[in-house]
Amino acid sequence: MTIHGGRDHTIVESTPPPTKGQRIILFALPVQGHLSPMLQLASILHTQGFKIIIIHTETNSPNHSNYPHFTFKPIAVGVTGLTCEPEPSSHITYLNEHYVDSFTECLAGLLAEPNEPPVACLITDAEYYFAQEVADSMKIPRLVSWACTIVSVLVYRDIDYFYQKGYFNLTSEDSEYEEPVPEYPLLKVKDVIKTSRNPYGMAKYLTKVMKEVKASAGIIWNSFKEPEEAILHTLNNDFPIPRFTLGPLQKYLPLSSSSIVFEHDRTFFEWLDAQAPKSVIYASFGTLAKLSELEFQEVAYGLANTNLPFLWVVRPDVVKSSEWLDLLPEKFLEQVRGRGRIVKWCPQKEVLAHEAIGCFWTHSGWNSTLESICEGVPMICSPREVGQPIIARYVSDVWKIGILLDDVLTREGIESAVKRVMLDKEGEQIRNRINLLKEDVNISFDEGGSSHQSLKTLVDYISSF
Ligand code: UDP
Repeated sequence: MTIHGGRDHTIVESTPPPTKGQRIILFALPVQGHLSPMLQLASILHTQGFKIIIIHTETNSPNHSNYPHFTFKPIAVGVTGLTCEPEPSSHITYLNEHYVDSFTECLAGLLAEPNEPPVACLITDAEYYFAQEVADSMKIPRLVSWACTIVSVLVYRDIDYFYQKGYFNLTSEDSEYEEPVPEYPLLKVKDVIKTSRNPYGMAKYLTKVMKEVKASAGIIWNSFKEPEEAILHTLNNDFPIPRFTLGPLQKYLPLSSSSIVFEHDRTFFEWLDAQAPKSVIYASFGTLAKLSELEFQEVAYGLANTNLPFLWVVRPDVVKSSEWLDLLPEKFLEQVRGRGRIVKWCPQKEVLAHEAIGCFWTHSGWNSTLESICEGVPMICSPREVGQPIIARYVSDVWKIGILLDDVLTREGIESAVKRVMLDKEGEQIRNRINLLKEDVNISFDEGGSSHQSLKTLVDYISSF
């Protein structure tokens, strides 16, 4: 069997898949950062001979025509897709409580379909804790997909402990705020604090997630073994169930997944093609992160003051009170004409793969981080919440493939961070290290490499159901 997302970034099927052609049902959170890796996982499993069914919410639907070989089953839940308001954990809890009936009905319908191959398993995001009981009641195995870095799960596991310890009452005025976490000295106390605006709610919800993950038939991590091996080892005791590290999932497929956020703007590519190699700053803060009006303006001044070319993704909802570009400083567009491009949304994977991109200023979402690693692009990390502060700490202090620009965003701080990465010797060293990590990814996808092996084991495991 050839399972490959190797150096040529394509999946190759040179021999007939050895599976029994069973059906696999997948269900992701209705946001880009979860839907994309789930669709990528589905595509990989499809190449191995499984029949794919995607259950999704009516709102935030993936584009069915991009996946003609999948069956889609929309379910109505009466709520819109996930937002960060009031904050992620309460919204996900709400979804868990409101999906039960429609999801159960949909699953029962699929299981009862005549003349269809058997359902091998259900794969859902780990965050859908409600799905374990449903799967158990229908006697189908449920595997969980964790679309985040493995180390952030270590923190999620202990959020309740950190909450009891009073971490979330600390502010930047307290000396402990900047200190290392005694249990995990690679992280700072402030990284843990920044994961949640509602630590009590988050601890409650994550306790349920952890319990149901333990009851599941296995964990699929969108990560690869090498950078997180030590953490994986620690977590193995907590989750004594089969575990698969076959990521980065985004490496198996050549193009950016279909967008559920906005249409991809491609008009800037002509301009990007004309820029010198590694000269352009790519700035994007993902699908959900918000900026205050003041932060937005500081980002604009910061980018303008660098005097370097930039491509800036400004989602129309990135600042609550704005329409789109109305809050830009006066004369900003005039000042950066020809040097800077602003778009609402872009095919990020293609942008990061472009030779003109010199660094990625990111909110440190896990997909964005993996995409940057796969293309060897150094990062400037401005994390907001959930797993992002943990990822950013690892990017800057542990893997040393980027730098941190957290806390308050100021134009001076931005200018200096960009200079460090784009112009200084430090930036060159960062680029060398991220290229080594990129090579580790390639090795993990080679025959016998960790991700390659893990995918093979997963396919055998699912086939055995
Ligand atoms: N993305 C994109 N176009 C953009 C900005 C982002 O396609 O203009 C994609 C990006 O490639 C990534 C996803 O959106 O796959 C964002 O996921 P991530 O985990 O980085 O952050 P989240 O949005 O979930 O916080």
